[in-house]
Amino acid sequence: TVRVRYAPSPTGFLHIGNARSALYNYLFAKHYGGDFILRIEDTDLERNVEGGEESQMNFLRWLGIEWDESVDCGGEYGPYRQLERLDIYRQYVEELIEKGLAYKCYCTSEELEAEREALSTHGHDNIHYSRRCLNATEEEKKELEARGEYVVRIKVPENEEYTFNDIVRGEVTFKSEDFGDWVIMKSNGIPTYNFAVVVDDHLMKITHVFRGEEHLTNTPKQMMVYRAFGWDIPQFGHMTLIVNENGKKLSKRDKDTVQFIEQYANMGYLPEALFNFIALLGWSPAIEEEILSHEQLIELFDEKRLSKSPSTFDKNKLSYINNRYIKALEDEELLELCMPHLVEEGILEGKTTAWAMELISLFHDRLSYGAEIVDLYDEFFSEELELDEEAQAFIAQDGVSETLKAFKTELEALEDFNAEGIQAAIKAAGKAAGAKGKMLFMPCRIATTGQMHGPDLPKALALLGKETVVGRIAKFI
Ligand code: GLU
Repeated sequence: TVRVRYAPSPTGFLHIGNARSALYNYLFAKHYGGDFILRIEDTDLERNVEGGEESQMNFLRWLGIEWDESVDCGGEYGPYRQLERLDIYRQYVEELIEKGLAYKCYCTSEELEAEREALSTHGHDNIHYSRRCLNATEEEKKELEARGEYVVRIKVPENEEYTFNDIVRGEVTFKSEDFGDWVIMKSNGIPTYNFAVVVDDHLMKITHVFRGEEHLTNTPKQMMVYRAFGWDIPQFGHMTLIVNENGKKLSKRDKDTVQFIEQYANMGYLPEALFNFIALLGWSPAIEEEILSHEQLIELFDEKRLSKSPSTFDKNKLSYINNRYIKALEDEELLELCMPHLVEEGILEGKTTAWAMELISLFHDRLSYGAEIVDLYDEFFSEELELDEEAQAFIAQDGVSETLKAFKTELEALEDFNAEGIQAAIKAAGKAAGAKGKMLFMPCRIATTGQMHGPDLPKALALLGKETVVGRIAKFI
């Protein structure tokens, strides 16, 4: 059976790129009826952040990605947190040392630095560790051992090739001469990423590894470890970069693009929409339709269609997709999504639930995300209307003032300032002023909302309230 994993390092919160790795592994597993494992790679002690693991797990769950085995639910191949597996790694490190495929290195960082400098001044550009500790005589070894502190290095074989058939990029080859004997276990007894990941993937029976292309050059190192143990090598797929609209790699410091899943959740994006959007960030289905449910995506997922070129993070597409999911909500559900934002801005103070529902229904189809209700509200209820040139020109036409006067008179006479009454008032004003069609509706709309397009006018005006509407019209007469 297919077994894949998402292996976050809790060095940060769930980022859009992490979420994509998790999502493709998940879709792949579920498409083939396999298992999806969540493993926490926390061996880089200095880089771990408080709450990182929690954020990763909470927001994966929020997105709708569920795992079969992990730190919270257990599984046959645990523990699933690397720091709880140190004894296991130590045992495998010992095995390689015994087989003569790895060795202890006692060199200090100063010595290593000096070695590198000497080699670089002699014009070497491919600088590797000298193997001083490997080649030391018995006597030298005794002296070195007396130092106590050591790291363990893998002995990189000579003249070996590492070729694999990457699911995304096809055949990739690396040569062993490009690698010096690298450290598999640090002096504190903690393994390095490239070693731990192999031991874990092997013991957890991982069959396929989908991860970001930044790991491509790690793959030959990992293959060395697989070969040293004589283990089967899983299939790799390295996903291309996500770039911003300027074609630059999406960096966590890029302030123009929101990149953490938690932020999207807080802004009132829908998890199903984000799931859909991320699934298309480096993959496309064989069909035209892009609005796809969780189940459809699992059904349609095909690893052969993972993109070979970088994927652009297209904000408009995200807005479009989220808007499509918002449109499918009931007004009540949308109100719930918008509620925290309405409350935070004090928009609902002194207002009834019915009023809130009217507000939601008015903007329902235009909203791209929950928090946007505040912008739409502000635009709509602002004291000062800002007319663009076209609207100004329209309202300056002959006869418009007469129409607006009549409209104002009709509105003032209304007892119930509701959509029906307002609709009737527009009609009556047209009759009284002898205006119809666009020459009737457009002035009414522009004078009350400042815009030539917008939501259903009678409903919108009912929401604005009589005083505001009449006051706005008065300014144009
Ligand atoms: N812990 C690694 C990372 O966060 C996982 C890479 C891998 O999937 O092998 O990048």
